[in-house]
Amino acid sequence: MPILIFIFGLCFGSFLLVVGLRVPKHQDIIFSRSICDECHHQLKWYNLIPIFSYLFQKGQCSYCHKKIAPINLIMELATGILFLIGYLMYGLSYQYFLYLIVISLMLLIFITDFIYMIILDSPLLIAIVLIVVLKFVYLGKEAVLISLASGVLLFLVMLFIQFLGQKIFKRDALGGGDVKFAFIIGLLLNFRLGLVVLILSTFLALPYSLATLYITKNNEVPYGPFLAGALTIVFVFLDKFQALINFLFSL
Ligand SMILES: [Zn+2]
Repeated sequence: MPILIFIFGLCFGSFLLVVGLRVPKHQDIIFSRSICDECHHQLKWYNLIPIFSYLFQKGQCSYCHKKIAPINLIMELATGILFLIGYLMYGLSYQYFLYLIVISLMLLIFITDFIYMIILDSPLLIAIVLIVVLKFVYLGKEAVLISLASGVLLFLVMLFIQFLGQKIFKRDALGGGDVKFAFIIGLLLNFRLGLVVLILSTFLALPYSLATLYITKNNEVPYGPFLAGALTIVFVFLDKFQALINFLFSL
């Protein structure tokens, strides 16, 4: 089972990368065959096996011998390893299915937000449907309603922050994708832990923003990856963060 999960993760990572790189450019992901970005040669099935094709072709296209971007290898390995770690932590459980959604969203947002400065709508929608179905099956109707309400509340909090940002900085300080993503964070973790994610994400983003500002004088940084990173951290260390909240509310 762990080996199957790892292989599934490798393949899924490859798929996530294709989605992340092609959908923002409005390229077809299902019906068009994979091609080399350099020579546009159509790739055969044996050029598309995760990890192995990369290693056997020594990181080059087998037709034009241009280097294949290592992000292919990194993305496949990262997804495989993270899917496997989750399985070892949770087994095949409700927590694990949610974990897979969190990890997949995080990896996808890393790609699209760092490269194109956008968060795609369709994966967010798919995630919402999956989370609602999982919560309904495992926790029941009442839990779904609480989670939906939490999602709406967190969405409104982010909308308010976006509004403040526009008033203060006179331009878009927060992308629409970030606001929509906040809905999913609330849906997954409910309101209090969702707020913890928002707070943690600002701490994660701060060093990166300052470094970017200092090095490139560019003050526009993607915020999605830090939201997604904070979501993953809070999700994985749920007990610790829950204990922290209980402690703060008992003061
Ligand atoms: Zn090529």
